[in-house]
Formats: sequence, structure tokens, C-alpha cells
Amino acid sequence: MKFTEIEHPSHPQHTLKLVAVQEPYSCYGCRQIGFSLGERSCYECKQCNFHLHEECAKPELSAFHPFFKTCEFKFIENVQGERRCDACGKDVQGFVYQCTCSHTDAHDLHPCCMKLEPTLNGDGVELYLRKKVSSSRLKCLKCKSKNVAKNFEGWSYESNCGQYCYHVACVMDLILKNWKKGQTSDTGLQIMVPNMEDAVKQSRRSKNGKKVNKYLTKAILVLKLIISAIFGDPIGIAVVCVEQLLSS
Ligand SMILES: [Zn+2]
Ligand SMILES: [Zn+2]
Ligand SMILES: [Zn+2]
Ligand SMILES: [Zn+2]
Ligand SMILES: [Zn+2]
Repeated sequence: MKFTEIEHPSHPQHTLKLVAVQEPYSCYGCRQIGFSLGERSCYECKQCNFHLHEECAKPELSAFHPFFKTCEFKFIENVQGERRCDACGKDVQGFVYQCTCSHTDAHDLHPCCMKLEPTLNGDGVELYLRKKVSSSRLKCLKCKSKNVAKNFEGWSYESNCGQYCYHVACVMDLILKNWKKGQTSDTGLQIMVPNMEDAVKQSRRSKNGKKVNKYLTKAILVLKLIISAIFGDPIGIAVVCVEQLLSS
């Protein structure tokens, strides 16, 4: 059951309302950027401009993740020392799930990263969440690397056909960068599938045009699925638009 209004100890002075906020906000809990393109909602106190991810407002006290089968994660509000999230590689600055095992380097996961779906499905495409890029031939199509940062792999989604792969962190960055640009144009938020210019040119020129077009269309779909998984289902707000390049 969803509570549309809650009281939360991090903001005792007012009740918080469950809303969809379409501008990036900083979550008071995990200090990460939150952003809802669609139905993904957060708890807000409008008066104070206070926001909490749903995941941060109502954490599980203890959790498990299939990537760390033997680890039990506990929800912690204030983590000690410098930590980074195993999934996205960004700093841990507030609420986090941390594993409580005795091994030397504990795992940390932002509440939203903890909740990333292991499998995404849509229009015949299946994507799998991976702890690291699984095949030696595959790279993230955004940063063109296997690692999201130096010596750090970072989680990614890979397609069942083995052609598409994007780091979770790279898609987060892509959206935020495009949101800033979208603010200055009247066409709204448009997300370009990165690094597809060559494929677009090729499709105009070559006999393989159809095949390349198919590749591009699928790249759009893959990106849309990942965006939905991170930010909520985009209803007409985000357009992934190599389509525009294709038709121009
Ligand atoms: Zn949060
Ligand atoms: Zn308030
Ligand atoms: Zn552990
Ligand atoms: Zn994270
Ligand atoms: Zn990447």
C-alpha cells in the first residue's frame, strides 16, 4: 500500500507528500540527485523545498542483493569515512545500504541503486543488470569503456543480443546533462543516443541502410528501458531522438 502522506524523522516539522517532481532535486537522505520523468515519485515538503526518494523514505532495515549473495545489507543513515556506491561509483554522502559482513571492504549501495531491476523487458528486448561488462567485445556505448571510472567497473545493463550496453552511471549523467540543455530550448527534454552519429551517416549512405536503422532503433529502445528503470516511465517528456537525425 502506498501512503501519499507521511511523517519522517528527517523533517519533523511538516508532513511529506508523495509527488512526481520533474525537476532534478537533491534527496535529503542519500544526497543524490532525484528526478522523475514519469511515475517515479518522491516525498516532498513544498514549503521547505525538501525531498526524499521513496526508496530513502521507506527503507528496509535489512536487505539482500543477488550480486552479493552472502552479504546482508543494513540501512545506515550516516556512513563513516569516504565510501562509494558499488553500483554507480558515486560518493556515498548520506543514506546507504552497507553490508555487515566481516570481509575487509564492505559493499555500499545507494537506496535507489539497491532497487535497480535485475531484468528489463520491452518490445522484444531484454536487458540484464551486470556487475561488470560481461563480454570482452562489449563496451558501454556512452563512455566507450568497460569501466565507469578508473579501476572501477560499475554496474551496467546489457542486452540479450549482446550488442548494447550502458553503465547505469552513464545514463544518469546523460539525463542530467540533457535536462540542463532542455531548459534552454522549447522542445523540452530530448535525449540523444550518444555516439550514434557514424551509424546515422552510414545508414544514409550504405546499402546496409535498413540494417543500420534497425540497430539505431534498438539503441533507442534500450536507452528508453534503462531510463525508465532509473527515473520512472517517461510519458512524453523524454524523447530519445536519433529518430530526428534519421528523418532529417
Ligand atoms: Zn535518496
Ligand atoms: Zn517542511
Ligand atoms: Zn559483505
Ligand atoms: Zn549508486
Ligand atoms: Zn559508460
